[in-house]
Amino acid sequence: MSTQTVNNAQAHESMFDAVLARLDAAAKLMNLSSDVLNVLRNPQREVKVSLPITMDNGKIEVFEGYRTVHSTHLGPSKGGIRYAMDVNSDEVRALAAWMSFKCAVANLPYGGAKGGIKCDPRAMSVGELERLSRAYAQSMKDVFGVNRDIPAPDMGTSGREMAWILDEFNKVTGEDSPGVITGKPIAVGGSLGRDAATGRGVMVNTLAALKKMNLKPTEVTAVVQGFGNVGSHAARLLAEKGIKIVGIGDHTASFYNSNGIDIKAALDFVAKNNRVLKGFTGATEINANELLISKCDVLVPGALQNVITIDNASKIQAKLIVEGANGPTTPEADPILNEKGIICVPDILANSGGVTVSYFEWVQNKAGYYWTEDEVNTKHDLKMEIAFEAIWNNTTTYKTSMRIAAYITALQKIEQGVKLKGAF
Ligand code: NAD
Repeated sequence: MSTQTVNNAQAHESMFDAVLARLDAAAKLMNLSSDVLNVLRNPQREVKVSLPITMDNGKIEVFEGYRTVHSTHLGPSKGGIRYAMDVNSDEVRALAAWMSFKCAVANLPYGGAKGGIKCDPRAMSVGELERLSRAYAQSMKDVFGVNRDIPAPDMGTSGREMAWILDEFNKVTGEDSPGVITGKPIAVGGSLGRDAATGRGVMVNTLAALKKMNLKPTEVTAVVQGFGNVGSHAARLLAEKGIKIVGIGDHTASFYNSNGIDIKAALDFVAKNNRVLKGFTGATEINANELLISKCDVLVPGALQNVITIDNASKIQAKLIVEGANGPTTPEADPILNEKGIICVPDILANSGGVTVSYFEWVQNKAGYYWTEDEVNTKHDLKMEIAFEAIWNNTTTYKTSMRIAAYITALQKIEQGVKLKGAF
C-alpha cells in the first residue's frame, strides 16, 4: 500500500512550539498574568515507557510509549492515545496542551493529556496490537484513573484498543471501572453517538460558521482530507445537511468530482476495501497535494497535522476551514489565511465534539445509566453551539481570529482554575 506524500514541509518543526506561539499571542492580547502563562507553558507530568512485545515471529520488539498530562486545573486530565510512527515526546506534549484548551473551550470539567505509542498499527497483527495495548495499560497504571487521567481513541486507535486497555487496567487494579477510558465499544460501557461525535462536531461548527457567513449549506461545496473516524463521519454528516462533497482523500489516494461525490458509496467502498480509498471509482483521482488547494467553499483537514503551511496557504480556495484534525495549520500559515479573509474554525473548537461525547460517556459510566443516541446528539449539538458562539463573540471583543479567540476563551477559564487552586 503506497503512502501519499502530503505537502508538509514544516512537519519536522516542534509542534509544542506551535502551541506556545498561539498561547503567547492569546496571552498577550488578553493580558494573561505571566504567572499563569508560565504554569501553562510547562506540562505537569510526562511519562515515557519502553514496551517489549513478543511479535508473531517470536522476536521481541521494543516500542516507545508516552503519556503527558498538561494540566489538571479544571478537573482530571483527558485525552486520546495515538498509534503512529511519528509519535514522539514533542508531539504528545503539544496534543496534551491542546486537550487542556479544547476541554476548556467545550466547557468540560477536565484538564488535558495525551498519549501515544510509536508504532505502525497497519503493519501489525491483531494479536501484536492487543499485546502492545495491554503492555501500555500496565505501564500507565499509576497515571490513568477514572478521577485522575482518562484516555480515549485518537489516530490509529479505536474502540477495540480501548476495550483491551480497559480490561488490562481493571485486571491490574482489581476494580471494574468503565469510566477510566472513553470511546469504548457500546457493549463494554461506550456511549451511543461517540463514534461519530468528532465528525458531528465538525458538522455543527461548519453550519454555525456558514450561518455567520450568510451561506446556505445547500449552496456550498466541501473537501475533506482524511477518511478515518473524523473525516468519514464529517463527510457523511455534511453531505446529509446538503453540502456537496467534491473532494475526499486518505493516505492511499485523493479524489475530486465537481458534481459531488456519493459519500455513501465511498463509505461502502472503504468498508469492503481494508478501510482505504485507493481504487474508489466515484471520482477522478488527483495528487494528494492538490486536494487541499482544490476548488471548494469549505475545507476540512481531518487527517493529520502540519498540512496547511506557508507553501500552500496562499493557494487555498476555500472561504472556510474547519479543522477536524489536531494542528493541521502551522503558525506561519495563520496570517496568510487571515489576510485572504478565510475563516478558520480552529481544532480546539472544531474537533471538540469527540471529547464532549467522551465526557457524556464518563458521566453515564459514573451514573450507571445510559442515554439514547438522540439525547447524546441533542446535548452535544447544544454544547457545540454554545462554544462556537462564545468564541465568535471573542473574535469581536478582541478583534482577532477564531483561533486566538478560542485560546483566549480557554485561558479565561483555566486562569481561574490556576488562581483558585493556587501553587505551592
Ligand atoms: P484515523 O486513524 O481514524 O484516520 C486517519 C485518516 O487520515 C485515515 O483516513 C488516513 O488514511 C488519513 N491519513 C493518514 N495519513 C495521511 C496522509 N499523509 N494524507 C492524507 N490522509 C492521511 O484517525 P482519526 O481519529 O480520524 O484522527 C484524525 C485527526 O483527528 C487526528 O489529527 C486526530 O488527532 C484528530 N482527532 C480525532 C478525534 C477522534 O475522536 N478520533 C478527536 C479529535 C481530534
